[in-house]
Amino acid sequence: MALLGGIAVYCGSRTGESDTYRRLAADLGSRIAAEGRTLVYGGGRVGLMGVVADSALAGGGRVVGVIPDFLLRPEIAHDRLDQQIVVGSLHARKQRMFDLADAFVVLPGGLGTLDEAVEVVTWKLLSLHSKPVVFLDGTYWAPLLALIDHFVAEGFLGADARGLYGTADGPDALFEILHEHTAVGDARPSELL
Ligand code: AMP
Repeated sequence: MALLGGIAVYCGSRTGESDTYRRLAADLGSRIAAEGRTLVYGGGRVGLMGVVADSALAGGGRVVGVIPDFLLRPEIAHDRLDQQIVVGSLHARKQRMFDLADAFVVLPGGLGTLDEAVEVVTWKLLSLHSKPVVFLDGTYWAPLLALIDHFVAEGFLGADARGLYGTADGPDALFEILHEHTAVGDARPSELL
């Protein structure tokens, strides 16, 4: 069951080399709080995960974590969340985060973030949902987007797949996309799932 206004944020369990990533995660967390949306994320204190959660909490936002039991220690489960949901596997985490969110934002991250992002885009390709997916920011994710272009150029993916996700360079552009999607979605019958 989706939380009203739940935004799932996928992001690195590290903070990356450049301080811009940390700033982007902090800006996103405070903006989610300011917009009155609920942050749904991986539940840890490490990396950009901790940054986005702390920033949303500092802004008075509601934050829900979803963490597999075997990662409680390695990812240092956050102990100040509104809700921390402990699940049995990475697959269960991804499913639960998906269920709780009505939009997905992909911040910089590594293989785990890539896995999560590709899954929600693939599910959308298969018409399993129609929730917005936005890469924030597009510069960090340019190599992935170029890979998708390669799939299209080589005939393994339809060109319309590029419409399955958006890119934004900051919270303003992100929320423009999300607000637009809500406006369109409101005029339609119920979403899938
Ligand atoms: P990373 O981007 O590799 O730093 O990972 C970001 C988050 O994704 C972390 O919370 C990881 O625990 C999680 N993660 C790592 N591998 C996977 C996977 N195969 N499926 C889902 N989540 C993963």
